[in-house]
Amino acid sequence: MKEQLRELMKDKKRIVIKIGSSSLQHPETGDLDYTKLDVLVRELCDLRNRGKDVVLVTSGAISVGRKAMMMKELEGDNPIAVKQACAAVGQARLMMTYQKIFAEYNQVAAQILMTKNTIVDNLNRFNAQNTFAELFKLGVIPIVNENDTIATYEIGIGDNDTLSAIVASLVEADALLLLSDIDGLYTDDPRQNPEAKYIEVVEELTDELMNMGKESTGSAVGTGGMNTKLQAAKIASNMGIDMVIANSQDIKVIHRILDGRNIGTLFLAHRNEKFDLPLYVQQMHK
Ligand code: GLU
Repeated sequence: MKEQLRELMKDKKRIVIKIGSSSLQHPETGDLDYTKLDVLVRELCDLRNRGKDVVLVTSGAISVGRKAMMMKELEGDNPIAVKQACAAVGQARLMMTYQKIFAEYNQVAAQILMTKNTIVDNLNRFNAQNTFAELFKLGVIPIVNENDTIATYEIGIGDNDTLSAIVASLVEADALLLLSDIDGLYTDDPRQNPEAKYIEVVEELTDELMNMGKESTGSAVGTGGMNTKLQAAKIASNMGIDMVIANSQDIKVIHRILDGRNIGTLFLAHRNEKFDLPLYVQQMHK
């Protein structure tokens, strides 16, 4: 039965893949892991070669910028401005690195930076949707991040798990893959509780499940913990998008999952026609 559910993944045509900062860096130094980036880009290009539409949601702007400025911590009198300055430096560097590797595979990539307003404002949302649609037509891979240089709390989405679910909704994707430093969903934090049980498939996002993630704080880099992943699952499910959380230790899980292999936790979609994405995004964090 569970294997059959995985077969679903083989037919996915439009896929959003999210990779977190901790998956792109060497834990010892915080510097970019070029080997992983290379495998990631190769996987994405190969999905394009299979005729699929692909979007990459990538973080790393702030940490790459901080590294470029040789800051250990985000130091300065105005921490928000420092963070935004680091994001401005880092986003450009990050894209430069991606562009170089994509070029090796003759693949054109584009950058889209978003805030809450991209979804909430009707004209912005319409424009963003048109841009994505055109990029797909052109065979380009959009690379998305939050516009951290201008997004403060009021207009920020805050974490890239949620952002990726929003992007998947916006482009009407049929699958969302969240690659992280955990194997999938457990009944409790496996790093703290050895009794925690691994969950292969989530057929329904119950309140009990949603509450389970509340305590989770995530890794030292990136803003996502299990809570933000469950929030992403909620958006994806309501919008009719199947989602998988898997470990990014081996980036090749991307094609294995899309080949229907039983890897990571699969969250089955339940389209809710009443779910209003712009309204939901507007009310987030309030
Ligand atoms: N947008 C942030 C960055 O690029 C990261 C947010 C996250 O890790 O969820 O640094």
